[in-house]
Amino acid sequence: MDRIPEPAQYLIRIDDLCPSVDHRRLERLLALVRAYAIRPILAVVPDNRDPELACSPADPEFWQKMRELESLGAATALHGCYHHCASRGKSLIPLHRRTEFAGLPLDEQREMLCAGLEILRGHGLHPALWVAPRHGFDRNTLTALRGEGINYLSDGLARIPFLREGVVWIPQQLWAPVSRRRGLWTICLHPNSMTQTQSDALRAFLEKHAEQCTSFERVCAEFTPGELHAREALLEAVALWRLRLRRVRKRALSMKRG
Ligand SMILES: [Zn+2]
Repeated sequence: MDRIPEPAQYLIRIDDLCPSVDHRRLERLLALVRAYAIRPILAVVPDNRDPELACSPADPEFWQKMRELESLGAATALHGCYHHCASRGKSLIPLHRRTEFAGLPLDEQREMLCAGLEILRGHGLHPALWVAPRHGFDRNTLTALRGEGINYLSDGLARIPFLREGVVWIPQQLWAPVSRRRGLWTICLHPNSMTQTQSDALRAFLEKHAEQCTSFERVCAEFTPGELHAREALLEAVALWRLRLRRVRKRALSMKRG
């Protein structure tokens, strides 16, 4: 399938997973994942060194939980290596000023990717795709990923998976559950900041759309991604500009408020 699916399909992605993830909030989210038999993408940080992700004392059961989710059909994604975003390099999806990978020399990126993959595999997980911390990655990242046999990533704003720079991009366009008419939509969720209200909204969404939720495995099997057609590529570029504009506005507003 390389046409835009109708009705829409949804892929749930859970970000910033590491042993110090907010346990209570993660459990609330996983209860929904289990209740609606969702097979999410798990964006796991191999060796977290980002203080912002230290939300609970380290959970000794964390890795076991990830293995169980994987055995139930979730896909593990390599979410950076340390999630320590100190580089100011320009990303292919330029939404943040600082990133972990974009701008670093190829050798350095390759080293971090290999270290991350080794850690995840050492915990018995099978990382199958890449999720860049803060959308920060460049051509060197893609070269390093291909070299390690990771040929999929979750990012970009088109409505179908596509091939770019030798890697399959599974677009990630939403940060909250929103229903759409057609297309494949990845909804990125952050358990560390997910409020009860957001969790209730997700429950209501799944109550209606659980049947339309797909998995990484199914997406790989059902789509045969090629380069984006001109029209879809243009729509993607427009969506990226709108998103950037929204973020600039939001930043300006929060600065005004002090
Ligand atoms: Zn992250």
